[in-house]
Amino acid sequence: MLVTYRLECTHKDMAELAKITERMFCGKCSRYRKVKAIESREWYFKCNNCSYARYNGQSKSQAQTLLGAHRIRTGHHSDSIWYRVHPAKKEAIQRVFARKVRYVLTEDNKLYPDEYLTPAQSKQTIEEVHLPEKPPF
Ligand SMILES: [Zn+2]
Ligand SMILES: [Zn+2]
Repeated sequence: MLVTYRLECTHKDMAELAKITERMFCGKCSRYRKVKAIESREWYFKCNNCSYARYNGQSKSQAQTLLGAHRIRTGHHSDSIWYRVHPAKKEAIQRVFARKVRYVLTEDNKLYPDEYLTPAQSKQTIEEVHLPEKPPF
């Protein structure tokens, strides 16, 4: 899976997660730099009326489109969408880099709940949830 990563020089680039190593070539600096963070967040949405829930990559508008389609199909009108850590990606990053590389790309590498949350709910922790393998449609 294609992910965005940030180097020690603060420049960002994208690569397949499996191909990222501790040092990557920075095209802007023309030299190898240490990888500091890899983005593990994705747009995530869930329906509050049924178990429909899904991670949907980096496109918020695509996530909104799918959620809208679910509303029309089912008549369900209570849902949430937010940008949150994808548990499997986080795990993959930590398996390879342990604590040397952060799994979010915010400027100070910290998670701010408010940034992950769009409409609906107020404070929300970034805890993992157990999703069904195939959400019902
Ligand atoms: Zn650079
Ligand atoms: Zn639903």
